[in-house]
Amino acid sequence: MGIHILDAMSRGGFEEVIGVHDRKSGLRALIAIHDTSLGPSFGGIRRLSYLSERAALMDCLRLARAMTHKCVLAGIPGGGAKAVVLDEPGLDLEGAYRHMGRKVEEMGGRFYTGPDVGTDGQALDWLAAETSYVTRTGPEGPGDLGSATAAGAFAGMRAGLRHLDGESDWPARKVVIQGLGDVGAKLAQRLVEVGATVVGTDIDTDRGLSVARELGFEFVEPSTEVQIECDVFAPCALGGILHDVAIERLNARIVAGAANNVLAKSHHGDILHRRGILYLPDFVLNAGALIRGAFFHLENRIETLEGIESRIENAADEILRRSKADHVPPVRVATAIAEQRIAERRVDS
Ligand code: NAD
Repeated sequence: MGIHILDAMSRGGFEEVIGVHDRKSGLRALIAIHDTSLGPSFGGIRRLSYLSERAALMDCLRLARAMTHKCVLAGIPGGGAKAVVLDEPGLDLEGAYRHMGRKVEEMGGRFYTGPDVGTDGQALDWLAAETSYVTRTGPEGPGDLGSATAAGAFAGMRAGLRHLDGESDWPARKVVIQGLGDVGAKLAQRLVEVGATVVGTDIDTDRGLSVARELGFEFVEPSTEVQIECDVFAPCALGGILHDVAIERLNARIVAGAANNVLAKSHHGDILHRRGILYLPDFVLNAGALIRGAFFHLENRIETLEGIESRIENAADEILRRSKADHVPPVRVATAIAEQRIAERRVDS
């Protein structure tokens, strides 16, 4: 299948797609800018071994557009972008990231980048050696990003519980967390602090068990977590985990977590809705790190966890209100609100 970049751009409303090639390091990369109508664009660099150039382009476009949705719903005066680096044999990583850094610098603040799959602290240091338009994860950056993301997931759960029961009443709630990595462990800590019953799992059982022991909650074997009866199921591991089989087995009233793209296909949001399970969209709940990064660059400040919680809780409240009034799944409402706001921004700019 051929690649029709311009057709894909006009269909998805993209502003710019840049191809980057560096002979010396072997870098081949794409940068997609989706929207700068309200301010600069934000998006991490994903480094992945793609099956084809087309797959890389499609991933880049999809992720950039999703970043605009995240920005719009979190009230960030900026839009979405993304870069993908094709992880190919012989790639000189330092040379490649430094070249990307120079490219980002050349863009003069139209694109702020940061971490994503394949782009770790070392890669961010190489980028930062060449550009200031990068969000770092260490002390030079906007604070702890995992805690920021966990705060958003926690706020989303609170909104969901209030929507169903009128209150969060944590001591009476049971939350199952899938994935006890950076975000999952911090979310577990917050939930333990407010008195919720936490159950968690991780395929890295050593890591998961040590988090569970330290915080004093029950660890269960991976892949048993989905069928546990609970108030909230919190995916904090990988995407694509809510597919036909998992949804059939799911025994939660609410799904609210941090993992990106948890719905295997978009119609799984409808299936959850039909099953009476309240699914709070991942792209609303996991914007905490983006909020921190954006305000760090735009206003030179570190957004507090309370600030992140209230932004995300307000967004979730609005989505749930409209979902109830219109009998439409929350994920469809969130997408419609985002699309409408993007259209409004573009008319005004
Ligand atoms: P992480 O790599 O620190 O943790 C993920 C954990 O999930 C690991 O411990 C891994 O062993 C575990 N895991 C993987 N597959 C699993 C499975 N099938 N069952 C159970 N456990 C499994 O990642 P993180 O930074 O905590 O991020 C978690 C999720 O949140 C990811 O999907 C990430 O894309 C998303 N996210 C993170 C941030 C952030 O600020 N870190 C921001 C936005 C979104």
